[in-house]
Amino acid sequence: MSSECGKLYVVATPIGNLADISFRAVDILKRVDLIAAEDTRHVKMLLQHYGITNKLVALHQHNENKASVGLLEKLRAGRSIALVSDAGTPLLSDPGMPLVKTVKDAGIDVIPIPGACALIAALSVAGLPVAPFSFEGFSPRASSARRAFFNEKLMCPTTWIFYESSHRILASLKDMADILPLERQIVIARELTKLHETIVKTSLGNALALVETHENMRKGEFVVIVEGAELDKKVQLITPEQEKILSVLLSECSIKTAVSMAVEITGIRKKLLYQAALGLGKEKRLT
Ligand code: SAM
Repeated sequence: MSSECGKLYVVATPIGNLADISFRAVDILKRVDLIAAEDTRHVKMLLQHYGITNKLVALHQHNENKASVGLLEKLRAGRSIALVSDAGTPLLSDPGMPLVKTVKDAGIDVIPIPGACALIAALSVAGLPVAPFSFEGFSPRASSARRAFFNEKLMCPTTWIFYESSHRILASLKDMADILPLERQIVIARELTKLHETIVKTSLGNALALVETHENMRKGEFVVIVEGAELDKKVQLITPEQEKILSVLLSECSIKTAVSMAVEITGIRKKLLYQAALGLGKEKRLT
């Protein structure tokens, strides 16, 4: 791409503690022609703290497709742009994907300016295997969708991570406790880098009790990290309730029909139910 084009810098900003920003990030935010921010009022606090006076433009989930086209034109005209979100690394459960894609597709340089990211901060202190891990973004809002999500993750053999809000942390742990084994290790990382930072690693059962009994444990921002399933041990594929449904169906129909009907009833993936049905079949043959 022609060197006359500007560059897009994707700049990580603090997730709480204002000191968690790199010298390079501050320098870039001072030097670019324009800062595209998720919430211009919010980012002003950070900019004021570092004596940055620069032009701001809003880029949020409601305007990002349209705004990206305008920003691409500015880059083509040689302007440099920094993209920031309200906290942490843009694009990670934050706006920015359409802009980065549009700019990259146009052959213009997109430069990362790394820094804080809640999931990486939490993972770095979790004491759970970090490679591989999967990041799931926010857990679904509705309980039914959330339960389907936890069912999907039940047999995931690697560490998995999701973001949770104060409004849903308790409901989310309750749903999880209905589906995952209560002894599964989880890490709740709350208010990272802030005054009330709390990082607890314990069993799912204990974590639920803790959040249920301590109001403070339901306040703030949360990263939840879950240990992967130990596949070499005999792990419960589905909940006892779901197993019962499957077992009744198996006693009345073929494995294929029973699994199809169980998919309809439970919303669980066919593959999981099929594995569970095979397991149930084996147990029956043994008894
Ligand atoms: N882009 C951000 C990042 O790099 O982590 C995440 C933005 S997302 C809209 C906000 C969510 O991230 C919060 O609801 C919470 O789940 C998590 N989060 C952000 N800051 C956090 C913090 N200081 N402590 C714990 N979780 C945090």
